[in-house]
Amino acid sequence: MTTTETTETGGTEAGGRTSVPPARRADEGGGAGGAVVVGSLSPSRAGDFMTCPLLYRFRVIDRIPERPSAAAVRGTLVHAVLERLFDLPTGARTPEAALEMLAPEWDRLLEAEPELAELFEDGADGEAEHAEWLAQARRMVERYFTLEDPRRLEPAERELFVETVLDSGLKLRGYIDRVDVAPSGDVRIVDYKTGTAPRADFEARALFQMKFYALVLWRLRGRVPRLLQLMYLGNGEILRYEPDEADLRATQRKVEALWQAIRRAMETGEWRARAGRLCDWCDHKERCPEFGGTPPPLPSAPVDRPSPADLEGAGRADPRAGVGAREHDDL
Ligand code: SF4
Repeated sequence: MTTTETTETGGTEAGGRTSVPPARRADEGGGAGGAVVVGSLSPSRAGDFMTCPLLYRFRVIDRIPERPSAAAVRGTLVHAVLERLFDLPTGARTPEAALEMLAPEWDRLLEAEPELAELFEDGADGEAEHAEWLAQARRMVERYFTLEDPRRLEPAERELFVETVLDSGLKLRGYIDRVDVAPSGDVRIVDYKTGTAPRADFEARALFQMKFYALVLWRLRGRVPRLLQLMYLGNGEILRYEPDEADLRATQRKVEALWQAIRRAMETGEWRARAGRLCDWCDHKERCPEFGGTPPPLPSAPVDRPSPADLEGAGRADPRAGVGAREHDDL
């Protein structure tokens, strides 16, 4: 029909294993129904584990900071513009108005995180790089307007934080770029991607994140979202999918199985490196056995830094994009 958590990590036991965290009641952690929370997962971190368990470990267990990447920060900038576009009166949501927002939104990101300026070197080369980076952001915003007319729609929600606790105690959480609700009550979940649309064999991975959100919304609102819509601003394509209950039940089984695999890795201390095309963008090559590195010892106690999921909860998550930027799965 086709038309981004964390574990609540404990300390490390002898033998390099990570102790499985103590359970918490959902009502202590924002969950519903008094279920005991045994851990939490977002689509981004689930995706990390599916991509490479060792990457998940570096991000969630070790919580090793990552350098912000220009692509991730550009994604954050474009998302910010598209979110704020809908603050304007309907008739004022023009391409010109959106493009005018780019500079002030970039200033706002810089103010929140001055070190983002280091993405571009001083001097003529850095300035040229910054100009090209901004030009690409402009093209993405312009491309958005070739896909839909924001003057003809009024989102019900933007940057919506959602979470739910499954009966197993696993908390699912994440941010949805946009939720549209039709007069009939039909729900459309929209996600902007600043990359290009995936090849057919990678579509399932792209849709997993959307089905994850659909599962959470279904549980929260009792109605299966009618449409999942991924808008690729890198090449101007839209991927649409109409989920049904069977899809979402299968997604829940997949998420539960992933969580079990994560718990097994925590118990055994075995975080397998799985090399793939995403290694090109990985910030952890120097400590990755696939590239001749050695992972650091597992932390002996919970690391005293906010976890990616903590940051997500605060509206800022991407270790690649740094503080002030929420994670967008564009890489
Ligand atoms: S470099 Fe590749 S294999 Fe190594 S941790 Fe990163 S994603 Fe995994």
